[in-house]
Amino acid sequence: MTTALISVSDKTGVLEFAQALHALGVRLLSTGGTAKLLQGAGLPVTEVAEHTGFPEMLDGRVKTLHPKIHGGLLARRDLPEHVAALLQHGIDTIDLLVVNLYPFEATVAKPGCTLADAIENIDIGGPAMVRSAAKNWRDVAVLTDASQYAGVLAELQAGAISLKTKFALSVAAFNRVSDYDGAISDYLSAIEFDAAGADAVPARGLFPAHSNGRFVKLQDLRYGENPHQQAAFYRDLYPAPGSLVTARQLQGKELSYNNIADADAAWECVKQWSTPACVIVKHANPCGVALGGTALQAYQKAFQTDPTSAFGGIIAFNVPVDGAAAEALGKQFVEVLLAPAFTSEALAVLQAKANVRVLQIALDGVQRDGASAWARGHNAVEVKRVGSGLLMQTADFHELQASELKVVTKKQPTPEQLQDLLFAWRVAQYVKSNAIVFCGKGMTLGVGAGQMSRLDSARIASIKAEAAGLSLQGSAVASDAFFPFRDGLDVVIDHGAACVIQPGGSMRDAEVIAAADERGVAMVFSGVRHFRH
Ligand code: 5GP
Repeated sequence: MTTALISVSDKTGVLEFAQALHALGVRLLSTGGTAKLLQGAGLPVTEVAEHTGFPEMLDGRVKTLHPKIHGGLLARRDLPEHVAALLQHGIDTIDLLVVNLYPFEATVAKPGCTLADAIENIDIGGPAMVRSAAKNWRDVAVLTDASQYAGVLAELQAGAISLKTKFALSVAAFNRVSDYDGAISDYLSAIEFDAAGADAVPARGLFPAHSNGRFVKLQDLRYGENPHQQAAFYRDLYPAPGSLVTARQLQGKELSYNNIADADAAWECVKQWSTPACVIVKHANPCGVALGGTALQAYQKAFQTDPTSAFGGIIAFNVPVDGAAAEALGKQFVEVLLAPAFTSEALAVLQAKANVRVLQIALDGVQRDGASAWARGHNAVEVKRVGSGLLMQTADFHELQASELKVVTKKQPTPEQLQDLLFAWRVAQYVKSNAIVFCGKGMTLGVGAGQMSRLDSARIASIKAEAAGLSLQGSAVASDAFFPFRDGLDVVIDHGAACVIQPGGSMRDAEVIAAADERGVAMVFSGVRHFRH
């Protein structure tokens, strides 16, 4: 190892790293700001401008774009012609490159960022050097993040950086450049230029004209939805706080594709409440949801809805799981358990069930009122693949307030019924369409999910309540979309519903409202639809 070039915008840890390189006898080359920092600490540093004999110019736009730099990075040390060319032109090799780029992502994330600010923060020479070094990975180690300093230093101190590490550094470098270019491309493609001059803050659409899926692999999965399918799990480059990918698995078997999909459904649903709640999911649908004074009470009520389906369920809590709740959970077969925290008593109880996958997801970073869907822990954009295409939409995130409800019947819901209706509505939002959900006293009583007709969903919800031995007399019912005819409404009333919430908006609203009046139930319109496919 003879020469290192260091050129960083984020100067975290770079001084200590450079000092350690110097102690190993490495010669240091550096650009303006970085050189100043290192020289200030007394390190002998050659400025790139001095090395190339060409000054930094154009406000730093041209600093390292010079054959003496790129020749030193790109020359293959194993090819005599390359070595001869370096000699002929008086170019020294550069064996270690330390670069992190102008902070483009952080700059455009700031609310008042102008187009000119963004453009000035597009690094040109940095990515060029990173690509040169990464291409020549056998001869040059390239560091693009401060988190890599310690590991590389340890290898250098032990003798040399292994080929394996150099290859991993090269891959990380190309990933970084790709993410960086992706961020630039996303930003620019989402700008409405006509609405903003270069020095104004441009309006930005949520869906860029060109979309770069930027994801990081978390793990390969044993298989996909079925054993003959291959699968892997990726996370967003910038995951939402409190989202599933931020989970820590505390114990249990490896997560499967279906576990992950169901865990997400349970977690997204349970996160809606701030008082203790429990959601049990099977095959992507909630089969029991309840509120309670404690985690244990919420679980016991949720389990009652459909004990048969709850077998092998995915169970999520929005509050810490304590010993009492864990004891109760231990009596049933659980696939995955999710909560923001577990007490030590709960963990001790769960340890006896070594197969149960226990996921802890901190909710601390999640903002409440007024924040964006992302800051509140939801996907900013949801994605669905269709034949060689991609459907994108904002998340189905709408917190219905009691003030948004419109009572359309002669009968007014009581305050207690209103509570039940809002609870039922929140559950229905997470049930696949067509969804019909019977509730009462803060728990689900019957869930009809995923039918091609609303009438069948209503029938199924009633049948399931009956099978679980639950009475629907006086219950509250939510329908995720309007009743196209009165027949679905008649079915839920026949089984005991006393109040109903639905979006409204059907051609036959008048007929459906008249049916509710005729049968003496209260009905409210939410004005929002929650199809979920
Ligand atoms: P310094 O603070 O050392 O003056 O600048 C470091 C930054 O300059 C690094 O982020 C590096 O990627 C970037 N950089 C290095 N060479 C060039 C170049 O030729 N053009 C541009 N635009 N940026 C460069």
